Amino acid sequence: MGSIEIFAATSNWIITLLSLGILGVTLFAVSQGKLVVKKALLYIYAGLLLEFVTVGINYKINLVYARGEAIDTLVFFELALLLIAMLFFAMASLQILVNNLPELPIVGALGGIGAVAIVYFVYIYPNSYMIANMQQIFALTGFLCLSIAFVSQLHRRHNAGYLGGAVACSCVTLILFLRLLGIGYDSEILNSWYISPLFYNVMAVVFAAINADYLARSLDTSRSEIVKYNRRIEDIIKSSPFPIIISRLSDDKIILANNNAVKLFGIDITELDRYHLKDFFADADSRTQLNERLEMEKEVQDFEILVKSYNGESPFWLLTSATTIDYNYDVVLYAAFQDITSRKNREVLLKNQAIRDPLTSLYNRRYFEEEVNKRIAAARRNNGIYCVMMTDVDLFKKVNDTYGHKTGDKVLIELASACERALRDRDIVARYGGEEFVIFLADVDIDSAKAVAERLRETIAALRIPSDDGRIVNFTISIGISSSQISDNIDTLIKTADEALYKAKQNGRNRVELFLPADLQGFNPDNASPHKDESANRHPIFEKEGAEEISLLDGLPEKHIEGTAAEIKRPDDSGEAD
Ligand code: GH3
Ligand code: MG
Ligand code: MG
Repeated sequence: MGSIEIFAATSNWIITLLSLGILGVTLFAVSQGKLVVKKALLYIYAGLLLEFVTVGINYKINLVYARGEAIDTLVFFELALLLIAMLFFAMASLQILVNNLPELPIVGALGGIGAVAIVYFVYIYPNSYMIANMQQIFALTGFLCLSIAFVSQLHRRHNAGYLGGAVACSCVTLILFLRLLGIGYDSEILNSWYISPLFYNVMAVVFAAINADYLARSLDTSRSEIVKYNRRIEDIIKSSPFPIIISRLSDDKIILANNNAVKLFGIDITELDRYHLKDFFADADSRTQLNERLEMEKEVQDFEILVKSYNGESPFWLLTSATTIDYNYDVVLYAAFQDITSRKNREVLLKNQAIRDPLTSLYNRRYFEEEVNKRIAAARRNNGIYCVMMTDVDLFKKVNDTYGHKTGDKVLIELASACERALRDRDIVARYGGEEFVIFLADVDIDSAKAVAERLRETIAALRIPSDDGRIVNFTISIGISSSQISDNIDTLIKTADEALYKAKQNGRNRVELFLPADLQGFNPDNASPHKDESANRHPIFEKEGAEEISLLDGLPEKHIEGTAAEIKRPDDSGEAD
């Protein structure tokens, strides 16, 4: 393709070499990526380099010939290099065409035939006509191969590079063909020096465009792979028998939910993007915990969460397995759920059975004592104060006798809920025995406790409860209060509160009495509560059985109160911290 005009002026060959350099740099840049045909481009470049060298040899031949010296060796080299360049072009074409390189023996055989022809026409039977033809045919064949290869790729998407290559190589092929036919032999354009640098620069653009096309095609492929992957995930989620939700990690928005999840959470599938996963957590802490565990482990199994449906119906328990995956160009949380509400309810029921009184649902005495012991220990560390109140229904036997014990039970249930309503969450109300309740008031002194007790007493006195036969029952309670000023022993506190309660009964009932430090004088815990008649705290239904140890409430025998004088704070140390 090159013309010896390249060497007619220094600027010509410098520009040509520079263009060849630009092409080389482009090739280097392109070959850094994963381009499939980068070997083909390398062969094309190698062929063009050899071709350029042959132009130099041709120029030299003209000089040597003009001096009348022998040129056969130079001609031999020129033809050999042209042959190799042709083979390079052919190999490049084959890679572009079938994405494969020809076997070495085939290349060797073709090269061998060409070499024999060259030796034959240069040395054995020198024929300048054949030599001139070979020069042109080798080059023409190479560029024809390239044109065919580039044209063959025009059907592909993103083919600007191949289109450019096809046009450039076809133009060169046409020029070489015209030269072979002897047409335009004198044409300045067809033989001008700048065809080579022009071609090299165009090819640099072609190389870059082929690479860009390749990247665009790769992007298309990976996009369609992501679409396929997304579809696969969607299919898995849809066909799962478990509720599954996918939410974006960045903003917690739900982006996918299967039918089971839609039903479970009460999601409106047409407005999926208005939901956030956190909306369904009944307890914000467990959401934070789940996130923390996911950050550490990437996958969390069997995590129990209390959730609520979107319309805020009663919360329910789910067992969750969650993991982070890639979905639709995002990192998302894939969470599968299993409804374990009935199991959890059973657990809660069993726990309640152990700690609650079945009639009133108040805590039982054992739980009260355990819990209050803990509270007292904590108060001891923090110099906290507290009070204990004992309440007893006045003349409850009469209620039972007048309205029947079923109404008596109802009275106890109403009394229990009135107590719970009147007190704060951190106070503890328990059924201590029969119609006797015990209350732990946290962080209050005896005066405040008295005010609370008075309010409670008035509230109870105002209650009106319909009996089974339609009559109205009203009743009163008496209350005794002891405080952390007296003791930090639960048994003693109960016993002294009971003592105050006894005083309330003595003083006419429907009253509140306090156990003050001064009352410790002459108080003997072993003989306390003289009013207490064990049988009185028994349900009438058991009265006939006469079994001393029967307890209606928690199945435990009455606890023997063991307050000792040592555990009681005497009036003189009542000012100390409890
Ligand atoms: P006081 O004012 O002195 O307390 O008189 P009272 O009649 O209330 O006497 P006491 O407290 O000694 O009697 C409690 C009665 O409560 C005795 C028992 O039959 C009854 N009782 C205990 N447990 C239950 C229960 O679960 N249901 C019903 N209906 N009655 C119960
Ligand atoms: Mg009683
Ligand atoms: Mg009573």
